[in-house]
Amino acid sequence: MVYIAEELEKAGTSLAYIPKPLELPTTTFEQKALSNNESSSTMNSVQEEEDFIKNNYVARTLLNESSLPPITWSNWYKEVNWPQATLLCLEPFIALYGLFTTSFVWQTTVFTFFWYFLTGFGITAGYHRLFAHRAYEATLTLRYLLLTFGAGAVQGSAQWWSRGHRAHHRYTDTDLDPYNAHKGVFYSHIGWLIFKPRRRPGVADVTDLTRDISIQWQHRNYLTLAFLMSFVIPTLICGLGWGDYRGGYFFAGVLRLVFVHHSTFCVNSLAHYLGNAPFDDRHTPRDHFITALVTLGEGYHNFHHEFPSDYRNALKWFQYDPTKLLIAFFKRVGLASNLKEFPSNEIEKGRYSMACKALDKFGQTIKWPKQNLELPIITFEQYQDLSKKDDGRVLILIAGFIHDVSHFIDSHPGGRAMIKNLVGKDATVSFYGGVHDHNTAAHNILAMMRVAICKYGGEVEHLKKRLGHVQTPTPIFA
Ligand SMILES: [Zn+2]
Ligand SMILES: [Zn+2]
Repeated sequence: MVYIAEELEKAGTSLAYIPKPLELPTTTFEQKALSNNESSSTMNSVQEEEDFIKNNYVARTLLNESSLPPITWSNWYKEVNWPQATLLCLEPFIALYGLFTTSFVWQTTVFTFFWYFLTGFGITAGYHRLFAHRAYEATLTLRYLLLTFGAGAVQGSAQWWSRGHRAHHRYTDTDLDPYNAHKGVFYSHIGWLIFKPRRRPGVADVTDLTRDISIQWQHRNYLTLAFLMSFVIPTLICGLGWGDYRGGYFFAGVLRLVFVHHSTFCVNSLAHYLGNAPFDDRHTPRDHFITALVTLGEGYHNFHHEFPSDYRNALKWFQYDPTKLLIAFFKRVGLASNLKEFPSNEIEKGRYSMACKALDKFGQTIKWPKQNLELPIITFEQYQDLSKKDDGRVLILIAGFIHDVSHFIDSHPGGRAMIKNLVGKDATVSFYGGVHDHNTAAHNILAMMRVAICKYGGEVEHLKKRLGHVQTPTPIFA
């Protein structure tokens, strides 16, 4: 192929062999004009839009339900949710003050990590996978435990949390998604908590949660539980355990809470921006190891949005998902059952369609030969006449297509004479192994030189007879 590369270089283009279209008196191929349909299609599109709004819950709600005004420099202070904003903005500063004024006690450091994981798992294994998604079933004891530790993460009651999260899944990336990633990283991370919601989240069914006695217990006692589990109990454990009340409050209490908060917030922000989409890329959720690392395994978010009731976020053994391992442990010790898993065959379909999409995108960067509908159809006789014309064109018929090989004939690896002999004839057999069985690259290069389609694919015997091109063979008598 070296000389072809040289040819290409000489021609100054990567497509040196694309020939000019044939000059034919009349083309037998006519493309139907689409212009007639244009006016009616405009009318249809108005009707279609109306129908879409009528039948689409999101579009209908956004159109009919008013939202709060956009946040601007002049109105922002009226739109802030002050209690939440104060808690979220103050806690990092209190934690920093504690860091610089409190001495480290190793037991408190270990306990801080321990309490971070416990309250964090209350959210990931409890609020998220158990209550919001029903990805597994848990005994009443486990439900109370998860709800108690989940309250220590100070993220609202499980019922409130799950209602918003179900809306997030149902209306992902729309204005009915309470933490719509299209509103920016800041908004989806913490902005939606600092400011009053611009509109109510889309409807989501939480009747199962309102019937659950453990959830209702936590909902009623949420503030007390949150205060006890986030500040009082860690302070008391460190104080009564090894005399470090101050460290217990600042480290296991406040500093840990900052990390638990931002860890969960990253699921709504980072997990919708960072990483790739191996299962579906129509929405923002993405898979990334870093997100998984900071969210106790919730970082395989593309998978999670595709298969939300699967108790796993990470599929592979080497992917970091401690929440999945914890749920499997719960099952082992009899605290959990009915762990839901989507069939791997269905999961692989997601991977397959994304692989096809990537391949298709790659294919769009390549120039392909003209397709049947783009080429004129001429008869074998017209092809013969055109071949005889002294216009410098070298036409050759292979596999039903007529190719203009004028620019290629001198670079033909089999020599110029080989092609010259087949001009005006059907060279299909010669090309397909009669002389040389050409490789795929040769097929591809040849296809780029298509200029017409030969009617009936080649020389047709019954037409030859009818047109008197050949004599009817004399019958052979025994
Ligand atoms: Zn999400
Ligand atoms: Zn979820």
